[in-house]
Amino acid sequence: MSESQVSGLGVERTWYAHQAPKATLHPVLQDCQTTDVCIVGGGLAGLFLARSLADRGIPSILIEARRIGAGASGRNGGFCSPGWAAGNAAIEKKLGQASARILFELSQEGCLMVLDALQGADADLARGKLQVSTFDAADALQRTRDRLAHSYGYDLEYLDSEAVRSLLDSRRYHQGLRDPRAFHCDPLQLCRAVAATLDPSSTLLFEETPALGFSRSAGGWQVRTPLGSVQARRLVLCCGGYGGREVGRLRRMFLPITTYIAVTPPLPQLRRVIRTTDAVSDDRRAGNYYRIVAGDRLLWGGDITA
Ligand SMILES: Cc1cc2nc3c(=O)[nH]c(=O)nc-3n(C[C@H](O)[C@H](O)[C@H](O)COP(=O)(O)OP(=O)(O)OC[C@H]3O[C@@H](n4cnc5c(N)ncnc54)[C@H](O)[C@@H]3O)c2cc1C
Repeated sequence: MSESQVSGLGVERTWYAHQAPKATLHPVLQDCQTTDVCIVGGGLAGLFLARSLADRGIPSILIEARRIGAGASGRNGGFCSPGWAAGNAAIEKKLGQASARILFELSQEGCLMVLDALQGADADLARGKLQVSTFDAADALQRTRDRLAHSYGYDLEYLDSEAVRSLLDSRRYHQGLRDPRAFHCDPLQLCRAVAATLDPSSTLLFEETPALGFSRSAGGWQVRTPLGSVQARRLVLCCGGYGGREVGRLRRMFLPITTYIAVTPPLPQLRRVIRTTDAVSDDRRAGNYYRIVAGDRLLWGGDITA
């Protein structure tokens, strides 16, 4: 990974980092270490993997090129709700109803893991996610609610236009589905909270330590870093979309996309037009999503360009 790629990740330039207390830097790897599992990447995938391994008594070393949460995990919308990008109907079509249900339950388990990691963390945790329709979708939304309850045992609340507009001051919105169990939080603080739970007697964490390359060795894998190396029985790449040449053929499978998120200055009128603390999203493809942060700022995201 080149220096320019690494510095492009600058988590310290995000609003989340700007308003959070400064985090102490974990050490830079400066020698040769041996472990069971080497995890490359300190986003949510790498951090939760390290946590799960520790729960099973498996030692690991996690190396992060920049700081914990420097990638998408520390700068995203902070929405957390069960389900997958593909949607239940598409998954059912491909795998059948029984497997789709198992996958949905797995995603619920993931939400509970996140919630558990947030206990005691200063991460602005708030419940509720409201998905609103930009066209009249009363029947379709009620069918979705019924199907989810019947086939997946998961309850959503249906809101008619009047109820939606009592919460959001926009004539563009029609009906909505509310998930009272979904939640939202400060994602950078979530990453830091997970890192803080990792016990150094079984899990070592190194920051500002990019993996430069990997090679097979007798006992598994050797991972090279600028000032040291890790010898591990297993290697797990959790580089998100940020892995460079070092991830080899995997890189060819990436579809680079850019998606956008912004936080406004304080807006004194905000709570008069958004009368809910729920996270809100609309039904457009790569649609708008937003939530109130820090009392009177709007965090808004949307759009994807390739
Ligand atoms: C703007 C935006 C908004 C989003 N909103 C939401 C949302 O509201 N809810 C939701 O569930 N999802 C959301 N997502 C998606 C979510 O953030 C990602 O799916 C998730 O964070 C991916 O986690 P990850 O650990 O796989 O990758 P990342 O968080 O990207 O972590 C990868 C890490 O690997 C490190 N790395 C890369 N190469 C190396 C190397 N060679 N050596 C060492 N370290 C390396 C990087 O520095 C980085 O820290 C959003 C994404 C974006 C971009």
